[in-house]
Amino acid sequence: MLDACGRLLVARDPLGIRPMEIAQDGPLIAAASESVALLNLGFPPESIRSLEPGTAMLVDGDRVRFERFSETTQRAHCFFEWIYFANVASSMDERSVYLTRKRLGEELARLETIPIDSETVVVPVPDTSKAAADAMAYRLSIPSVEGLIRNRYTGRTFIDGASSRRQKAESKYTPLREVLEGKRVILVEDSIVRSTTMKVLLGRMRSLGWAREIHVRIACPPIIAPCFYGIDMSTIHELFAPKFLEDGQLTEESQRKMAEVLGADTLRYLPIDSVARSIDLDSSWLCQACISGSYPTPAGERLYEIAYGRSLDAETGRTYESPPAIIS
Ligand code: SF4
Repeated sequence: MLDACGRLLVARDPLGIRPMEIAQDGPLIAAASESVALLNLGFPPESIRSLEPGTAMLVDGDRVRFERFSETTQRAHCFFEWIYFANVASSMDERSVYLTRKRLGEELARLETIPIDSETVVVPVPDTSKAAADAMAYRLSIPSVEGLIRNRYTGRTFIDGASSRRQKAESKYTPLREVLEGKRVILVEDSIVRSTTMKVLLGRMRSLGWAREIHVRIACPPIIAPCFYGIDMSTIHELFAPKFLEDGQLTEESQRKMAEVLGADTLRYLPIDSVARSIDLDSSWLCQACISGSYPTPAGERLYEIAYGRSLDAETGRTYESPPAIIS
């Protein structure tokens, strides 16, 4: 916040759910949610650090002071920042986005069971999954190749309305015959939220018929619950994974059914414990609510109960659109 007198206030939520990076170089001060923005402004890497959760930085002329406004020592950093939201060149809370995604790919390689031969290739769904795909391919000693080219003029799809999402998904990637023909393709994606993009993409690849087999690997566990901490993700009803889980568990059979619906030969997600290992933070320091259904705040728990009840009635409205009396 910048007030009318030119005083700057930068604050971070008490649990550190969202990231906040600050930089100070001589008289220059800047803050951004991602370190890459500060690096690109010309701040030296050693001048950039994370703002402690529950702390505010106040800048008044040439005076800078830090003030703690919450005493909680609990942390709940959003794991999805490292997996999907953040720029791959960023670091948050001293953990690199690139190295996290690389380790997620290594976890996928460790779990791989399909036969690997000279006709097997890894293809990333551009761009977020590239680091994971490259690391997976390296571990499996097979090539990671660009079998899908991203159309730079189509935006992200997961926060759009249904029809514009489908339209965008259709023009989002161009499959390359030269790369895919006759191949057993391990298709690596960062996550599946509603599955619109994945269904459209697999439908297109199948109708072109170039790839011999398509095995989908997701560098994230299934998204089973909505986010109430700033990401307008979806209602439970709209999410792809929840209806396939058996007693809330991801099984071989549930993944087989998901693969069938998507049009893939096989599908595999990462288990939840891969996430903390890959970020290199204890899971108690992470918000993993959208993959576990367990929220780090009482308000989150309450909203999830409402969202769950609404999903049983197949209601599609956002939980925070419920009457205030129900939420409070
Ligand atoms: S619910 Fe998911 S997207 Fe939202 S803050 Fe938690 S981990 Fe991040």
